[in-house]
Amino acid sequence: MGSDADAKLVRQESQGAENGNKGEKRWSLTDFDIGKPLGRGKFGNVYLAREKQSKYVVALKVLFKNQLQQSQVEHQLRREIEIQSHLRHPNILRLYGYFYDQARVYLILEYAAKGELYKELQRCKVFSEKRAATYVASLARALMYCHEKHVIHRDIKPENLLIGLKGELKIADFGWSVHTCNRRRTLCGTLDYLPPEMVEGKEHDAGVDVWSLGILCFEFLYGTPPFEAKKHSDTYKRIVRVDLRFPSKPVISTSARDLICQLLVKDSAQRLPLNKVLSHPWIVNNADPSGVYNGHN
Ligand code: ATP
Ligand code: MG
Repeated sequence: MGSDADAKLVRQESQGAENGNKGEKRWSLTDFDIGKPLGRGKFGNVYLAREKQSKYVVALKVLFKNQLQQSQVEHQLRREIEIQSHLRHPNILRLYGYFYDQARVYLILEYAAKGELYKELQRCKVFSEKRAATYVASLARALMYCHEKHVIHRDIKPENLLIGLKGELKIADFGWSVHTCNRRRTLCGTLDYLPPEMVEGKEHDAGVDVWSLGILCFEFLYGTPPFEAKKHSDTYKRIVRVDLRFPSKPVISTSARDLICQLLVKDSAQRLPLNKVLSHPWIVNNADPSGVYNGHN
């Protein structure tokens, strides 16, 4: 995505505002040429698309209103739009705008050309320490930015991470994110990535994202999340006990394991702060300073 085109998209948005259109329909389907489907979501599909005037390539996520209503997630979608459209960070997928017609809601998203991180992990089985550290550093920077804006993501997992054209990691899917002023007790997300305080239904804060970062770091290096079990109830027990065991294979550096141990701490206040993640020796010695991973393993 060139920054030129970026400016054009944003310009059109503000023109709408100058014309007194703020909050009203600024975009419509006729503004876009629609290309190939990029993926299937719970409430509709995502398509490659190009804005006709600027020729700017985007991902257009199409959501069916009736399905949103049936699942009672309209207010969650509103929150997702509200939060994601205000975040500007190289490792956070941009949401440029949205529009709707009678049956559908359309989200105009930054296009992540290299697709899902999840698929890459499936293909590679495990990532090299260099690749894992580069992603963990990118995530730590993006989450620091979110937390500074009092946003916690709460649903950090490989399925919600996309890869840009240059190999840069992009956090997507702010459907479960929340402004942190009010501490929430809601249980959400896939069990494997949830911290003890959330599985136990206690109050939680930005520390939940730090925990998820530890889970991801483990999964990048070993190929499976640490507390996986056949039964949900067993995963639950292992999370609450922080039953962390490092497999003997693949062989992972003690430095990487040290970082994981400092992130997966039961007491959220004792988890390693994100700025200290960035200065941890494993990150310093392994993460690519450009923040981009271009290898194949
Ligand atoms: P779920 O909640 O089940 O993950 P969803 O409704 O959130 O589904 P998405 O995950 O956003 O849907 O999108 C579905 C798929 O479309 C993704 O898994 C990904 O493969 C593709 N996709 C979505 N957004 C983009 C994007 N911006 N760039 C490239 N591909 C994308
Ligand atoms: Mg998704």
